Amino acid sequence: MDYENLFRTQLDGLRREGRYRVFADLERQAGAFPRATLHHPDGAGQVTVWCSNDYLGMGQHPEVLAAMHEALDRTGAGSGGTRNIAGTNHEHILLERELADLHGKEAALLFNSGYMSNWATLTTLAGRLPGCVVLSDELNHASMIEGIRHSRARCEIWRHNDLGDLRAHLEALPRDLPKLIAFESVYSMDGDIAPIAAICDLADEFGAMTYLDEVHAVGLYGPRGGGIAERDGVRHRLTVIEGTLAKAFGVIGGYIAASANLVDFVRSFASGFIFSTSLPPAIAAGATASIRHLKRSSAEREAMHARVAQVRARLDALHIPHLPNPSHIVPVMVHDPVACKRIGDLLLERHGVYVQPINFPTVPRGTERLRFTPSPLHTDADIDHLMGALAEVWAEFRLRRAA
Ligand code: PLP
Repeated sequence: MDYENLFRTQLDGLRREGRYRVFADLERQAGAFPRATLHHPDGAGQVTVWCSNDYLGMGQHPEVLAAMHEALDRTGAGSGGTRNIAGTNHEHILLERELADLHGKEAALLFNSGYMSNWATLTTLAGRLPGCVVLSDELNHASMIEGIRHSRARCEIWRHNDLGDLRAHLEALPRDLPKLIAFESVYSMDGDIAPIAAICDLADEFGAMTYLDEVHAVGLYGPRGGGIAERDGVRHRLTVIEGTLAKAFGVIGGYIAASANLVDFVRSFASGFIFSTSLPPAIAAGATASIRHLKRSSAEREAMHARVAQVRARLDALHIPHLPNPSHIVPVMVHDPVACKRIGDLLLERHGVYVQPINFPTVPRGTERLRFTPSPLHTDADIDHLMGALAEVWAEFRLRRAA
């Protein structure tokens, strides 16, 4: 068997389809967000990043950096073990308290990433509750899908954000079976938002638990950055709120917040929690500083939403098509994988604008897009420059215009 040839053939298939992923070799510049140095074989140049999930630039916020420096010097680099074996540092405990408070829950549990928190929690809940049926929104993130699959529980997929379809699935299930409705608040590729209160109404009616992924909302919505559930005043109605420390909070790590019993259950049974070395304490200290800052300051959130509105208005003026949505995510639609990749390359090479093309399987074929995430730190000049670059590229490629 020619194994190397097998690998090459499959990779060639991705290239032919225009969805072979090329990573930009970036060096972020602390204090200069959203600027970064782009390294390439011929040298290096400065670019403006327009697709970062460090939505508020908190990854370079002075309070976050100071907390991390202080904790690094005080406690050292790594955590020293899994949580059960010498790896629970006081910084983890402080962070879990901060997270429980953020979501108004009795307890919280840290994981090494948002992916792991979804995977491990859903595997554990759905796999260990006898007969549990998971009702999963069709656009749920890969980490949720993998967790549900791994649980081997029965899974019913309901049409995206479709309450009628969710109700139909619930009605078809025996009343006495345990049920878990799994969904997200802000969907990261289309930027639309789930009707959380109405989903909780259905959960109450049919005796189901609810599991809400707020990865693209924590830090960004709600008066203290507690996400859409906080903004909508419904956080107490959710069984589990899951989030990440890697996007608006600017660091790394994932978590769940829930009742003390549920958190203890996951802590005690989830392989993805038990058997992995815990986060370095300096990371936990940085995340705590970031959450604390965003609990008391709304300035970053407000400035981000203002920038988002500005970018949308300028796109409209140029008739460049973008998906309307009520969130901070601005998907500019190209509808062609090869053109999407070439546009991304051109924006980077010619204009120093970095926006990663989004292709299948992250989004359905034919809906390829450039996903812009304007931040509070993008300036008027950055927006002018971006619009000039997009206008040029749109004309050059004769791309579809919005009506
Ligand atoms: N959930 C959603 C909806 C996501 O989009 C992502 C990552 O992009 C994750 C979970 C995983 O979070 P993390 O990047 O912290 O692993």
